[in-house]
Formats: sequence, C-alpha cells, structure tokens
Amino acid sequence: ATPMSIMVGVGRGAQAGVLIKDAEALERLEKITTIVLDKTGTLTEGRPSLQAVIAAADADEAELLRWAAAVESSSEHPLGRAIVEGAKARDLSIPPVADFDSDPGLGVWGQVGESTIRVGNERLMERHQIDVTALQQAAEQARDRGATAVFVAAGSTAAGLLVVEDAIKATTADAIAELRARNLRVVMLTGDNERTARAVAGRLGIDETIADVLPGDKADIVSRLQREGAIVAMAGDGINDAPALAQADVGIAMGTGTDVAMESAGVTLVSGDLQGIVRAVRLSHRTMRNIR
Ligand code: ADP
Ligand code: MG
Repeated sequence: ATPMSIMVGVGRGAQAGVLIKDAEALERLEKITTIVLDKTGTLTEGRPSLQAVIAAADADEAELLRWAAAVESSSEHPLGRAIVEGAKARDLSIPPVADFDSDPGLGVWGQVGESTIRVGNERLMERHQIDVTALQQAAEQARDRGATAVFVAAGSTAAGLLVVEDAIKATTADAIAELRARNLRVVMLTGDNERTARAVAGRLGIDETIADVLPGDKADIVSRLQREGAIVAMAGDGINDAPALAQADVGIAMGTGTDVAMESAGVTLVSGDLQGIVRAVRLSHRTMRNIR
C-alpha cells in the first residue's frame, strides 16, 4: 500500500466523521467478513427511559420506584440514570442509600431504610433466590417490545418490575441493510436478555444475536468468531466493550461513548452514526483498489 493513497483515504474519512487511526486499520477493514455490533449505545441511542412501573401484588408503585432510584443514584449505568430520571419526573423524593454495591452485567444493590434493595436482571434475582415467577409474564411482554425488564427486590421478596426502553437510532436500519447488501455477516452482541435482543434484532433485519453476555466475556466471543475463521469488526461504545474492540481485527468506537472505547479502537465514528461503518468499509475498498 502506498502511504500517499492511504493518507488520502484517511483524510476523506475524517471529513465524513470517520476517524481512522492508522494505515493498518484501513487495510484490515477491507478484509472483514463479520461485523459484531453491541446493542446498547451502538444500535440504540444509549439513553434509555423509564416506560412503566409494575408493582408485585402487595407492593406500591411509588415505593418501588423510590427504592430503585435510591440505589441507582449511585450507579453510572444508563439503566440507572433512566430509573433516577423516571423517579424525578414523577416528583418522588429519593431516599438515601447505604452500602451500595454492583455486579457488572447483573445489577446493583444497597441498604434503603430497613431493607436491602436489589435492582437488576433475572440472573441477579436467581443468585439471591428471589422468586420472580409472578412478574415473568409482564417481563416477557416488555422484552418482546424490545424493552429491558429490570427487577426490583426488597430483602428476599420480588417487589416489582421496571420497564426501560432505549430507542433504536434513526439511521441504524439502513446501515444494517447496506452492510448486509455487501454480504457482511452481522451479529448483535449484548449483555441484555435474549428475548429483548431478538425483538430489537428482528426490527433491524439482524438474524444472529448473542445475548446475556457478561461484560468480561465480550472479547472471548470475538476471539471465538475469529477462531471459526471470521475477520471481525466490532462496534461498541462502553467501557465494557473496550477489550472486545481491542480483540477485533478492527475495533469501531462510537464517538458518543466512553474515551476508553475510543482508545481501544482503530476507527471512531464521531457522531456515533452506524452509517459511518458503511462509509468506512466503502472507503477501505476504494483506497485499496486504487493502490493495486
Ligand atoms: P450492555 O451489553 O447492554 O452494555 P451491560 O453489561 O452494561 O449491557 O448490562 C447487562 C445487563 O445487566 C443489563 O441489561 C441489566 O439487565 C443489568 N444491569 C447492569 N447494570 C445495571 C443497573 N445499574 N441497574 C439495573 N440493571 C443493570
Ligand atoms: Mg453497552
């Protein structure tokens, strides 16, 4: 590859908001066979909002939300922010929390008044033997709409369910269609529930989903795909995506995400728009063709 044409390619990318780190990233981009996309913040806006509060039989909705917001006040996770904002929008006072702790990919907990409040997914509830059977139907309905079901427990009892929804970015569907038209294999990777993942994927024409992935396992999944022969571009936005971006043949960070993700990536999409991936792929082909 002549350095000159690569520089021109990198410059063209920059003008279109596609920042390419070096010549190698552009060369590798031309060879990718598979694009792995993180769901939250990559396919979706990454700004979820609270859609519904569903209290279990003997629980009170306002109380449930107040408890959850108390714990989530100490969390920086987008789901936590959505829950705190939801409580504020309903004019609820948020009590203080003590002994806050979290398990990445599962949820958060802390002491609110007399009770230990846990907020998170089914895996968190299972770990503490909290029976969520009574909330299961509501959870599945939410997931089938593409929303995330967040369980809330007080002590060892399920108190209810919070339905949190993150809108799909307006440009995502077209970008996926164009990637598929280029015969690229498109895979969604997410820490979210399988059912939610499938609902979102269905709307975008993505037929491969890898869900319920713990933050520490994303990079392993990328390397498994590579062992199976795939040349992988991985796009993500979060701190927990950084190792997977580094493992991929080309890491693609959303400019709207965390600095850690951008540092691990060969390509950064300034506006976080997936059309940037299409542009980057097109650019790599054009540049490499000019060189040969
Ligand atoms: P993603 O792949 O979407 O970035 P994460 O690994 O951040 O996912 O989180 C995976 C799952 O863990 C979430 O879908 C949620 O069920 C649960 N979770 C993580 N953090 C929290 C939190 N602060 N409050 C509630 N649930 C959480
Ligand atoms: Mg994420």
